[in-house]
Amino acid sequence: MLVSFIKKAIIIVSLVVIYQIAWFVYVYLVPYTKGELKLSGSFSTKRILLDPGHGGSDLGTPVASPLMEKDFNLTFSKCLIAHFSAADNISADLSRNSDIYLGRWQRVERANRGGYDAFISVHGNCCSRHSGGYMVIHSANGPSARDSERLAKCIADSLDREGFTPHRFWPILPPLDRLVIPRLSDWIRYCPSTYRLGTFINTGYDITVLDHAQCPAVLIEVGFLSNARDLAQMNNPTFLDRFASAVQVGLEVFFTGNGVPG
Ligand SMILES: [Zn+2]
Repeated sequence: MLVSFIKKAIIIVSLVVIYQIAWFVYVYLVPYTKGELKLSGSFSTKRILLDPGHGGSDLGTPVASPLMEKDFNLTFSKCLIAHFSAADNISADLSRNSDIYLGRWQRVERANRGGYDAFISVHGNCCSRHSGGYMVIHSANGPSARDSERLAKCIADSLDREGFTPHRFWPILPPLDRLVIPRLSDWIRYCPSTYRLGTFINTGYDITVLDHAQCPAVLIEVGFLSNARDLAQMNNPTFLDRFASAVQVGLEVFFTGNGVPG
């Protein structure tokens, strides 16, 4: 009786291990096809609202890092502004220009009242020290859901093409994720074709700034402050410059109507 139970347990554990190895191979070792970026055609001047996440008493990700997320978000948003202001046809404003607290609704209402053409929220991520890479998040719920998805893909494709590393989840996700982190799997629908681009779809969890923006809206997690390699890059002005330039190209592809279909 005990022997047969042990045999069954060994078989089940072996199947789970094989399954996880297969996921590992698929997620980490199979190369993916980078999206094609076609930058042709022109577009009239577009106005962007850049939203450095957190600020003031809201420090951002709870990570014991010498670089606080709220400060990183403002630094990188200013880097993006500098890039955009060098372009002829993109003008950008900041939702906050200093270390002040802004509520989620204040941010999205400013985007909606200002009649902006796109909204980009800037964040730094935090997880285990092994997690790394960028993420571009968009919502499947907002009024501009289709355009937001296309904008996220254009930016992610541009980042990929420039060699930036997208975040890939440890392969215990999915679909075993529901057993491990049920709340996380509620708000992110993992889809290999999109999450390998670092693009995530929010299907239920309220990311206010994305769900309620009238214009195409994305949230960029530049990297993980909890990861030593990402942290070094996020402190490196040259890295941020290259990253900002790739985001700008993604925006330009989006506004010319080229890039991946929505
Ligand atoms: Zn954040």
